[in-house]
Amino acid sequence: MSFNHRQKTIAETLEKGADIEKWQNWKWQIRHSITTIEQLESIEGLELTSEELNQLEITIEKFPLSVTPYYLSLIDIDDFRNDPVYLQAIPRSSELIRAPYDMTDPLSEDKDSPAPYLTHRYPDRVLFHVSNLCSMYCRHCTRKRKVGDRDSIPSFEQLQPAIQYIREHEGIRDVLLSGGDPLMLEDNKLELLLRAIREISHVEIIRIGSRMPVVLPYRITDKLVAMLKKYQPIFLNTHFNHPRELTSVSRQALARLADGGVVLGNQSVLLAGVNDCPRIIKRLCQKLLTARVRPYYLYQCDLSEGLTHFRTPVGKGIEIMESLIGHTSGLAVPTYVVDAPGGGGKIPIMPNYLISWSTNKVVLRNYEGVITTYKEPDSYEPTFCDRNCEECNLQLKLNDAEEHSPIGIQRLLSDEDSTISLTPAGNERINRRSLCPATA
Ligand SMILES: *Cc1c(COP(=O)(O)O)cnc(C)c1O
Repeated sequence: MSFNHRQKTIAETLEKGADIEKWQNWKWQIRHSITTIEQLESIEGLELTSEELNQLEITIEKFPLSVTPYYLSLIDIDDFRNDPVYLQAIPRSSELIRAPYDMTDPLSEDKDSPAPYLTHRYPDRVLFHVSNLCSMYCRHCTRKRKVGDRDSIPSFEQLQPAIQYIREHEGIRDVLLSGGDPLMLEDNKLELLLRAIREISHVEIIRIGSRMPVVLPYRITDKLVAMLKKYQPIFLNTHFNHPRELTSVSRQALARLADGGVVLGNQSVLLAGVNDCPRIIKRLCQKLLTARVRPYYLYQCDLSEGLTHFRTPVGKGIEIMESLIGHTSGLAVPTYVVDAPGGGGKIPIMPNYLISWSTNKVVLRNYEGVITTYKEPDSYEPTFCDRNCEECNLQLKLNDAEEHSPIGIQRLLSDEDSTISLTPAGNERINRRSLCPATA
């Protein structure tokens, strides 16, 4: 493992005589995280003006600062104000700008919470907030409202109602450990949790969302991986935003996880000034594949308070997707999503490839601008579907075929349901009908 000159200098500043052993110890890294302006000022090369220091002071009163020494060491001090690591880690006074459409909980996670620490939004999966702590406070955090709540590290006891809820709801087949960062838990606490979830027979997969491979790769120890291995299938989605973050130490952490059988994915956030560039995202996604990480989502920046300076128009995301699809390996292409304000969940967005349509032909275009036609069958006998899989020629033959009725757009498309439109509750036009003689 590397321990370069810059890292030695930072280690020495934070603790006299600190050596490579300590630097690689994740708990040492957390204990020596930079959380105050005095600590930040002591770091060689990060000379801020007194105006900047004042701004910083006001900002961290509202949104606290915490950076691991490792992540801080990645900042290029020759041009630190434009550095992608600096911009994600060090507060700016623009965080205090509040736009009229900003929200403290734009995704309504607190409203969709049937048990403490649990968000149940989709039919078959839940988000389980098992820790409110992170090793670094990302400036672009969507849960900024909760950052730094030091009292809220739930104990195993406090997580019981959520585990009970998962146990009682057989439709939950996917449990996503999130937070904060679940890997802030000690190995033995995390294992207690994984074991309790694994014991629930209808839970098929467990996912972990963690930024540790990026901001504190030393957390990924052989011991941790050996423990995770016992609870497969486990998927881990991490959070690289810029190719510069894929250091050799990060790559080793990812290799260890992949060798341990953990399936790796990445969720990036589109951030103005950090990665809002087709070439940066393309390079990031390609480099992730070389580290055995599959790009999963590219998020449009949420409407959380304090993020105005990071937001791009949706058009920037579409432009980036346009530059990926077809131009590079399909494996390197994430799904671009907007997480719907109000709790509607993730909505995928793509450039348009379907140009026109008739009864037996579609007109499509490819990434190069080639316009082509696809001839559809003149006669197609659709299989009538009333969800009675027993009688169907298509052999689903699941021993526990899903029996629930179709929802949403799926319902409009189904044969068995006569719904012809979906109308939001409280639609005024529909409410007015009760006043109309024909319907009253
Ligand atoms: C993102 C998210 C999930 C997981 O969604 P996938 O599309 O399956 O990755 C689950 N619950 C909540 C509340 C989420 O925000």
